[in-house]
Amino acid sequence: MPDTRLIRAFLEPQHGSLAARVGDFAMGEIATRPEPVDDDAARTEARALLGLLGAGGWLQPIFDLDLRGCCLTREALGEASPLADAVFALQGLGTTPILLGGTPAQKERWLGPIARGAVMTAFAMTEPEAGSDVTGIATTGRREGSGYALNGVKTLISNAGIADLYAVFASTDQSKGAKGISCFLVPADAPGLRFVEPQVLSAPHPLGEIAFEDCRVPADAMLGGEGRGYALGLATLDRLRPTVAAAACGMATRALAESLAHVKRRQQFGKPLAQFQLVQQKLARTATDLAAARLLTYRAAYEKDQGQERITSEAAMAKSFATEMAQRAVDDAVQLIGGRGVLASHPVERLYRAVRALRIYEGTTEIQQLIIAGELLK
Ligand SMILES: Cc1cc2nc3c(=O)[nH]c(=O)nc-3n(C[C@H](O)[C@H](O)[C@H](O)COP(=O)(O)OP(=O)(O)OC[C@H]3O[C@@H](n4cnc5c(N)ncnc54)[C@H](O)[C@@H]3O)c2cc1C
Repeated sequence: MPDTRLIRAFLEPQHGSLAARVGDFAMGEIATRPEPVDDDAARTEARALLGLLGAGGWLQPIFDLDLRGCCLTREALGEASPLADAVFALQGLGTTPILLGGTPAQKERWLGPIARGAVMTAFAMTEPEAGSDVTGIATTGRREGSGYALNGVKTLISNAGIADLYAVFASTDQSKGAKGISCFLVPADAPGLRFVEPQVLSAPHPLGEIAFEDCRVPADAMLGGEGRGYALGLATLDRLRPTVAAAACGMATRALAESLAHVKRRQQFGKPLAQFQLVQQKLARTATDLAAARLLTYRAAYEKDQGQERITSEAAMAKSFATEMAQRAVDDAVQLIGGRGVLASHPVERLYRAVRALRIYEGTTEIQQLIIAGELLK
């Protein structure tokens, strides 16, 4: 359960009760579910988890634009199940462009079913040749009659193949670079949208490639107007990066809890591991770094919830610091637990496979550092 004492200066009274409720739900109903054995099972489990999150109203902070609520939820889910965290995260990533740039009609059509977990969303930005540099997007949206025809390939897309609705970034005017990128809402059953193949991750996480082959969409599928897609995508990432940091904090919290339980119990050289100073040093470092990461995370979310228009630097600091911290924390946990820590499906082994991607998706650590330096040097 997210510990609200450290971060209480950044929270409202309702956040305390959310943290307790979502913590109970995550550890009681989610952490106890078995880890899917393969990619097909992970895809089935992701849909089941979305149903649970929707039915329980746990997706609501996304729709309330309550960033601290989203962070508390991701922290709790990250601690219990990285797959459940990814399901929540993707529902946020696919929905935020609608919340920020959708017309009343688009919101009316989609937000209800998404909040209930009946519609699963995805965010399709990355391409084979456009990763960190998304201005290189080669997918095109060509005007055709009253609508657009989309052509191109999107790769490393979470929920590819199981999503019902994709937020797709495509260039409607290649001569304008980033200012020519637009965002479209494309239902999975749109003719010309094809699920190419799954891309199987070491941790359970539905990922894959999709292709658009003269995929025709009506003009009202566009979000935020022609050429507004890049700004909408960046605003979405700006908003959601603190939640990646929160998920990382949840994973580190779990790693620390597993380490503490183990070192108090396990005896070597005639005493518990916890009594050795080299062991204590690892515990102390993780606890300190975790506290610092949580402060950066909730500082960023607080600023956004208070109405600050951009939290570019705060979000980049939180994301880069927390995800790097979580990687070290999980690695230390595996080390402290020893051979059992690398056995398949030990909680820290699961975290070890899951935590790595957080330093890469939604902008790598290096890109976050460039963002921070860019703000400093303005
Ligand atoms: C699990 C997972 C889920 C994902 N889900 C989605 C999704 O749902 N939707 C989506 O659109 N994308 C998604 N992605 C893609 C993700 O956003 C990209 O992987 C990420 O942006 C990096 O792009 P890339 O992999 O092409 O790496 P590259 O951009 O090729 O970068 C490779 C390396 O070069 C470094 N690098 C690049 N440019 C610079 C620079 N200027 N200075 C210094 N170093 C640099 C990077 O930091 C990185 O270390 C997902 C990725 C993963 C792993």
